[in-house]
Amino acid sequence: MNHGVIAADHLITDAGGLLSPGWMEVRDGLISRVQQGLPPDDAPLLAEAGGVVLPAFVNAHTHLALGFCPGIGDDLSFMDWLHHAMLPAIARAEEDRQLYANGAAESLAELIAGGVATVADSFLDATSVPMLAECGIRGFFGAEVFGLRNPDEEAQLAQVADLELPLARSGLIATGWAPHTLFTCPPRILQAVVQRARREGRRLTMHVDESPEEHEFFVEGRGPIVEIAERFGASARFRHGATPVRQLLDLGVLGPDLLAVHAVQITAEDIATLAATRTPVVTCPRSNMMLATGIAPVAELIAAGVTVALGTDSLASTPDLDMFAEMRALLLSQRGRTRSTRGLAAVDAFHIATLGGARAMGLETVTGRLAPGLSADCVRLDMSATGRGRRDVLARVVWEGSRELVSHTFVAGRDLLGECSL
Ligand SMILES: [Zn+2]
Repeated sequence: MNHGVIAADHLITDAGGLLSPGWMEVRDGLISRVQQGLPPDDAPLLAEAGGVVLPAFVNAHTHLALGFCPGIGDDLSFMDWLHHAMLPAIARAEEDRQLYANGAAESLAELIAGGVATVADSFLDATSVPMLAECGIRGFFGAEVFGLRNPDEEAQLAQVADLELPLARSGLIATGWAPHTLFTCPPRILQAVVQRARREGRRLTMHVDESPEEHEFFVEGRGPIVEIAERFGASARFRHGATPVRQLLDLGVLGPDLLAVHAVQITAEDIATLAATRTPVVTCPRSNMMLATGIAPVAELIAAGVTVALGTDSLASTPDLDMFAEMRALLLSQRGRTRSTRGLAAVDAFHIATLGGARAMGLETVTGRLAPGLSADCVRLDMSATGRGRRDVLARVVWEGSRELVSHTFVAGRDLLGECSL
């Protein structure tokens, strides 16, 4: 049933709007009315009245299938994780694809239990796509693109022409491409993928300037990435001395349709470039800290006017897919890095985790806040269990929220937490 009313003690409509009490009416999966006060007595309720209702989260970067190897990043640095954990794990799963399906099921169940209604997934295997459609979540899947081991440029370009996208079996799912990184996807193949995506009106996502080693490779032309780049036909094909963001600018890749993920090592000039090209950035603070790659300059990105979204990354590099924990990690890491509370408040973390993510994915007219005409994508929290005394409701959600408090996750008016059978 996706007609009815959702009534809450506190209805958070967006980072700046609170109705206490408040309610909203849902018709055909869309929000038809948002109002302060109590609903009419005879209104059919979609969830028990009370609690806190807020816009559902947008997890703008993960790899669902990697749910098959949780904890594989424990105590490893980025390069060791890549070489000694990730690559062997993927080699194992390529022999037994069921692992990908199990991993995606695990990840999806965790997202829905944690109040996520929209997800940006990317991977080299498309097992997750029918599963996304089946469980009713909203999302984007980017098929990962790598260079060829043997850097024959004509073969590379032919490969792009042949790239197929998995069929999105739901109107809620869009598919596009995910050039893996600059050092695993050579310039000509990258440009061809981007041009094709733009011709077909598809979106893109890409890991950008994640590790110090990546930055070193592009700026100084040396370090451990040299060998990896060679393996994917991407070495010596870039202009060294330019940061990854600068390379992407020169290659014509940046733009509002590209989710630039991580951006941990970016410079002040890169921030200005991302702002000028209106390229959204997805930050994954816990994954970056877990793999010890650093802390992205999120406060500076926001100050420069860049759209910032929040992602957990996959279970292979973060302890769980909990967006509440990710919001807190974002706040704490930025405050620790900048030694200031001024750049980022709880309200900013909330915005980034909801409407910021929707904007970054081009979905701001669909989801990310609770307003008439938008999809009824919302989360109900039973906050009565927390009693730490914070009076500001939004601050309570950010500092005290957890997926254990989520009672309902609605996508287009459907409660996936009750329905999803993954
Ligand atoms: Zn990733």
